[in-house]
Amino acid sequence: MAAGPSDGVAGAARPVPPGGVLGVLGGGQLGRMTALAAARLGYRAHIYAPEADAPAAEVAWRTTQAAYDDAAALAAFAASVDAVTVEFENVPEVALATIAATAPTRPNAAALATAQDRLVEKRFLQSVGFGTAPFMAVDGPDDIRAALADLGGPVVVKTRRFGYDGKGQARVETASEAEAVWAALGEAPSIAEGFVDFEREISVIAARDVAGRVACYPAVENRHENHILRRSLAPAPALGALAGEAERLAAAAVAALDMVGLLAVEMFVTAAGGLLANEMAPRPHNSGHWTMDFAETSQFEQLVRAAMGLPLGDPSPTAPAEMWNLLGDEADDWPRLLATPGVRLHLYGKREARPGRKMGHWNRALALE
Ligand code: AMP
Repeated sequence: MAAGPSDGVAGAARPVPPGGVLGVLGGGQLGRMTALAAARLGYRAHIYAPEADAPAAEVAWRTTQAAYDDAAALAAFAASVDAVTVEFENVPEVALATIAATAPTRPNAAALATAQDRLVEKRFLQSVGFGTAPFMAVDGPDDIRAALADLGGPVVVKTRRFGYDGKGQARVETASEAEAVWAALGEAPSIAEGFVDFEREISVIAARDVAGRVACYPAVENRHENHILRRSLAPAPALGALAGEAERLAAAAVAALDMVGLLAVEMFVTAAGGLLANEMAPRPHNSGHWTMDFAETSQFEQLVRAAMGLPLGDPSPTAPAEMWNLLGDEADDWPRLLATPGVRLHLYGKREARPGRKMGHWNRALALE
């Protein structure tokens, strides 16, 4: 098979030697940790972000502060880099398509488009073999009532686009709530999902390189509070056969997208012991932060390797570990965390500690039972 994964530019599969430039769309903490991993391998990171004070910009070689629809800025950015990746999935597809004329885009624009729309995403996840909660498209309050009738209540209504950390979604119990929920979601095209009685939430990060080889991190267990990730346990304890199934399906998904880079898939383990995919992100993922200290290759290094055309590293864990997010003013606890033996602290350099904002995280090995 001559053709490699579809990443935009023909013949781009050669490894980029040290000194090369990795372009990163997005300037948050995921971009920051990607830039740090790039620097460790001798690369330079060029961050493209609309906001001033981007956490990634502080550790990058270069930053372009411009909007995602600024064609001239995108073209100049593309001309300055050897490959481009993303650190958040809501980069407009057209931005990646513009860049793809000049530089390989890893992930490709189609993978991004799939992850940007919950309806397309759910259908895609089913197409590679995942089970999902039953779902229906919602384009008005009538559809919410229909979903309650057809799927059985309660249902979770989520906007198709731009939802994160529980934003853009509502749990609906009765048909009388339909109008208010539709209004609260801004009358945006949405989906309704059957409510899943889950036992726990897990995720798998699959990486794919320019040769089409796939490496998966083990499934991890994720515990949320107020829809925000609080803690991950890696690997997820006592998953049994579901661990292999989750990895196999995530690997199938990243291959089906024909993308280069990372794909995180979030899943529910149901009370009945089944696996249902919830959503996916073609980028580094909060549930993979444990890999910075307790995997042979961190997810950020893995992304840099994939994007720069290098072979993937070993995703094996070096010890069972936990990751805790530091939200809002919890990061003020840094002196105590630094003084705690075994704690590996990572701070993102964000100046304003708004409630619930991800300010940092820490990792620690878990004692073997
Ligand atoms: P999401 O934005 O799709 O990741 O949803 C955020 C969180 O809401 C998930 O991590 C779950 O804890 C919960 N959730 C989402 N969808 C469902 C569902 N269909 N049934 C039950 N809980 C859900």
